[in-house]
Amino acid sequence: KASERESLFLVSEFARDYFQQQLLETSTGKAIGLSYFKERGFTDETIKKFELGYAQDEWENFTKAALQKTYQLSFLEKTGLSIVKQDKKFDRFKGRVMFPIHSISGRVLGFGGRILKTDKKAAKYLNSPESEIYNKSKILYGLYYAKQSIAKEDNCYLVEGYTDVIQMAQKGIENVVSSSGTALTPDQIRLINRLTKNITVLFDGDDAGLRASLRGIDLILEQGMNVKVCTFPQGEDPDSFARANNPIEIKAYLEENAQDFIQFKASLLVAEAKNDPVKKAELTRDMVVSIAKIPNPIQQEIYIKECSSIMQVSEEVLFSSLAQINAKNQ
Ligand code: ATP
Ligand code: MN
Ligand code: MN
Ligand code: MN
Repeated sequence: KASERESLFLVSEFARDYFQQQLLETSTGKAIGLSYFKERGFTDETIKKFELGYAQDEWENFTKAALQKTYQLSFLEKTGLSIVKQDKKFDRFKGRVMFPIHSISGRVLGFGGRILKTDKKAAKYLNSPESEIYNKSKILYGLYYAKQSIAKEDNCYLVEGYTDVIQMAQKGIENVVSSSGTALTPDQIRLINRLTKNITVLFDGDDAGLRASLRGIDLILEQGMNVKVCTFPQGEDPDSFARANNPIEIKAYLEENAQDFIQFKASLLVAEAKNDPVKKAELTRDMVVSIAKIPNPIQQEIYIKECSSIMQVSEEVLFSSLAQINAKNQ
């Protein structure tokens, strides 16, 4: 089994090399893929560092090349790079720019591919399927590049997408990882927890999903970590914001706008409840559920006091609600 894993790594690393070569050394790759990355403001250095690539808009270019190099079809299929139907073989990724996803030690586990044609109904991003080496709930995109900086800065920025990681790194902010659009998992948080106790979650400014993502942050609190959140102006995400500003401006924005998560959530809930007492009661409980996730009782108490003042609910009510929830969680 160990040798099968190694075979899957080798096939994936061949694919990385192949897509990279397609991007940098073929005329369509350069005209379509490379110019796309350039338009997004990525430098040659960045493109090389993140091993970005291009998959031609053809049916079986990659699969043919891999088989010619004597990689076994079963491994191509297991990594999802090729799709086998009856006796026909297809490339999974076509007409997409490619983002290799690395393990913490830099092996290639899988890929994300972004579509270039905007007229198509196809998903904007397509990812490798789960495999023996690619388990998306245990991977953070960019961690291989970010790990030293996370430890050094004693903070980790968590963003939504590949391009956010890459653009911020290009602007000198290297302690950035992404869960690539999926809900954060305890395993992913553990990966960060080994390097720092501090996470700053950066939300896209477009997000309808902000309220839903807040629940995921409870998982970070549960691991005893300190959480800050920062939002971006409407229509901006960390990628577009970093692209439009210089490193000093970006760092200043992050420092000025990063807010303690509990305070952020309390303010958000107050705004949401407005003057509706039923809704307010419901959201207050929601708030206390988050606080109950914090393992340190002293911290819990400090937050209860803060929430009491932000939400205009008495400390007594909040403490008794906390006691109830704590008892249930035992
Ligand atoms: P871009 O700037 O290239 O348009 P983005 O990273 O800003 O992309 P978002 O729409 O903010 O894209 O989504 C964040 C992340 O969620 C993406 O980077 C990707 O990992 C994932 N994602 C987005 N859309 C899809 C999709 N249709 N299928 C699978 N994953 C997706
Ligand atoms: Mn988004
Ligand atoms: Mn985005
Ligand atoms: Mn974006």
